[in-house]
Amino acid sequence: MEQYRKSDQYYIDEYDKKTIQELKELEKLMDEAEKQCQSNSDNLPDYLSKQIKYIDTGVSYARNKNQSVRENIAEDERKDQLLQKNPIPENVRCNTCNALMDFKSHDFIGHRNGPLIYFFSCPNNHLPMKTVYANGNPYLIPKATCTYCGGELVCKTRKTKMRLILTDKCQQCGKTDSFKINIAPKKILPIDENDRKKYCTDFIGRRTSYEDLKSLAALGELFDNQQEKDTYNFSQLKMLNIVQLEETLVEKLKEEGLQKFQFEKPKDSNRFLTVNFSAVDNKNREKTKSIKALKKIIETQLFHSNWRLMSPGISYNLAFLSGQLKGYSLEEDLLKIAREIHEKTLK
Ligand SMILES: [Zn+2]
Ligand SMILES: [Zn+2]
Repeated sequence: MEQYRKSDQYYIDEYDKKTIQELKELEKLMDEAEKQCQSNSDNLPDYLSKQIKYIDTGVSYARNKNQSVRENIAEDERKDQLLQKNPIPENVRCNTCNALMDFKSHDFIGHRNGPLIYFFSCPNNHLPMKTVYANGNPYLIPKATCTYCGGELVCKTRKTKMRLILTDKCQQCGKTDSFKINIAPKKILPIDENDRKKYCTDFIGRRTSYEDLKSLAALGELFDNQQEKDTYNFSQLKMLNIVQLEETLVEKLKEEGLQKFQFEKPKDSNRFLTVNFSAVDNKNREKTKSIKALKKIIETQLFHSNWRLMSPGISYNLAFLSGQLKGYSLEEDLLKIAREIHEKTLK
């Protein structure tokens, strides 16, 4: 029996192919609108809306990729499991001659999570074919009706080399409708890696137009803060990364008898970095004095920096000291620290 589950790369490629195809179509519309816009600026809104559509579609494809790929893999694995668990139903008989019918093929109804069904045909060529669920119960194919008068439709198929032509004829009003399905063997072309980069990879981590607007608005607020920044001498703030942070503290701590200063693995919350630290006091001080000594060094050494001691401060147990530091890097947070420095140095 055929295996539905394919290699992981297959699902990724399928997703990327769809992405590339759709974005190329949107890009074409966008480029045409841009040309229109160059000859007449009244067309600018149209061009902008097509540009937004292009970008947002790309961002949306990039964001949904992992989940969609996972779901498609899960669906194919589900199909394989169902086929493995369910043997082909036996004893399916023709309604006309009661002969045992021959198994023809199986299928799954609907797009996702649909039940497994099996097709059988009569060895004496009686119609219709039979469709049954895995438990042998008949599956009734919904009867197609005419959209015009509700009459019963009879479907005829015609096959050419390249296409399958299905024609529905209404038994009541005679209206016909035909669909063409392309059955020419599809050439499976490998993905052009330049296309993959442009339409798939480059959209990863990109913002939608709306998100861009929001960040523009935030930037506007920052400009408003410019004056404030000048007042608080923003540039005097020392930006320390985590290595520089350690260097700033470690020597000073040793001088004061606080040894074995070390960090645990930092945690990144996007907005700031927090890191637990510890040290041991080898001066045999009592708890409050020991905490005070460590706190003083941290607060003075880091006063002009982007790092702050977090509440509840420092804890102490049998000469082992620990606490948590928070490092800021966002401009609005740095502004607050600059303001704090300004206010405290004025006192
Ligand atoms: Zn029969
Ligand atoms: Zn009709």
